[in-house]
Amino acid sequence: MAILYIVGTPIGNLEDVTLRALRILKEVDVILCEDTRVTQKLLAKYEIAGKQLATYNEQDSGVTAGKIIGWLAEGKNVAMVSDAGTPGISDPGTLLVQKVREALPDVKIESVPGPSALTTALSIAGVPAHEFVFLGFLPHKKGRETLFKEIAESERTMIFYESPHRILKALESLAKFAPTKKVTIARELTKIHEQIISGTAEELLTYFETNSDKVRGEFVVIVS
Ligand code: SAM
Repeated sequence: MAILYIVGTPIGNLEDVTLRALRILKEVDVILCEDTRVTQKLLAKYEIAGKQLATYNEQDSGVTAGKIIGWLAEGKNVAMVSDAGTPGISDPGTLLVQKVREALPDVKIESVPGPSALTTALSIAGVPAHEFVFLGFLPHKKGRETLFKEIAESERTMIFYESPHRILKALESLAKFAPTKKVTIARELTKIHEQIISGTAEELLTYFETNSDKVRGEFVVIVS
């Protein structure tokens, strides 16, 4: 019976990949990628060549879940990766796992764990992490204000992902709704310009407004 592997890949530094992930990527018949160009860089670094790559992103482009289920039914082993980190964490993956479980209950779905920006940020933030709430990407409009109020009132550490385009907006909202909370921003984790910075939202807003060259890259925001 075929196996569907859900494989964690680096969030920046290409050395952050497990030996098992590399072996599985070498052995499977098909690798499902969010963007084949991104995955090619990882495969090239580890000299994994000649694999069948297919785009899968749970939207309209790329191969469908039906096609993948067909491959698994034929006995092909399939690995799924996203552009970075753990599939299913603010990334494609969940829907495919659900559909494969429904359509092919005998197919094994194995996790090949790897990094995630969420746990990487928490591991160096120095904030209470025995209990936390992960919010993924915050909605742009509907429900956004309610979420900031929830963040302000929560006794648990709250974490969300943010893009460089919206980080200042998020800090403005935090300054408004949660002015006394400690905010930690983990930027460009595992990459050359990795940065971790803490303060009140107002302090971080001032920092990023005066250091606009730092308003780029990828951000994890932790409110504690
Ligand atoms: N699946 C990924 C994971 O396991 O972390 C998350 C993918 S999500 C589409 C991308 C978001 O994750 C970015 O916008 C950023 O908020 C966060 N992220 C990913 N890589 C990061 C990094 N190296 N440093 C900081 N944040 C990162």
